[in-house]
Amino acid sequence: MMEPQGEQAQMELRHWDGTEEDGDEPDSKWSKLLDVYAGIEDSDVWKHLRHPGIRLVPGDGPETAEGARVLVVGEAPGAVENGAGRPFAGPSGRMLDELLGLAGLAREQCFITNVVKYRPDGNRTPSLGEAIGGRPFLRAEFRIINPVLTICVGATSYKIIHPFGVAGTEALSRMKQGSLTPMRNGSYATAFFHPAFAMRYRRAQEPLEEAWSLLGEEITNTPSLAEALI
Ligand code: URA
Repeated sequence: MMEPQGEQAQMELRHWDGTEEDGDEPDSKWSKLLDVYAGIEDSDVWKHLRHPGIRLVPGDGPETAEGARVLVVGEAPGAVENGAGRPFAGPSGRMLDELLGLAGLAREQCFITNVVKYRPDGNRTPSLGEAIGGRPFLRAEFRIINPVLTICVGATSYKIIHPFGVAGTEALSRMKQGSLTPMRNGSYATAFFHPAFAMRYRRAQEPLEEAWSLLGEEITNTPSLAEALI
């Protein structure tokens, strides 16, 4: 078909009623997330972590991220994740899958990301400054995913969830692992010890598993959440 020209084109412009045509779809969640990750690469926040062989490990979830109703926030990628280019790809990830299962959740329902998106040298815990540097990107991921439930895995992530509406340090001291804290936007947050901690200190494993089972009960007892997570 010939392109409308001149006056005819002007007419068509004037008569466009706002109906989206094929190919005019609004940006998908995934394309918005890609903009966030490109923003990280353009920023200096974690410049000191970018060494040869170290790459940005973006969040990962169901294809296009559209179906993710749960946001899981870990600490930072380790060696396996740096190699695989996705979070929780190693032993911690296998344990995370099992723990999600105890709460009646599957990885396919989750968008999984880390506070810090590069592997810290020597696999150390990220510094508070490095974690705070990740906050704007985490907030952007939160807005795009719009989760009904945010699960903080490990202290680094639950230290910085208060921008989402949880009462910061107070929540930290009072938060019972697996219990739900309402957030200002109507969604919920919860927090757990890191699976790596339970792998290192076996005595922590059973309480951690109980806490994830408690999350399953809390979800069942919160109809809006249970419905959203069916
Ligand atoms: N630990 C984390 O916190 N994140 C990962 O991606 C892997 C291990």
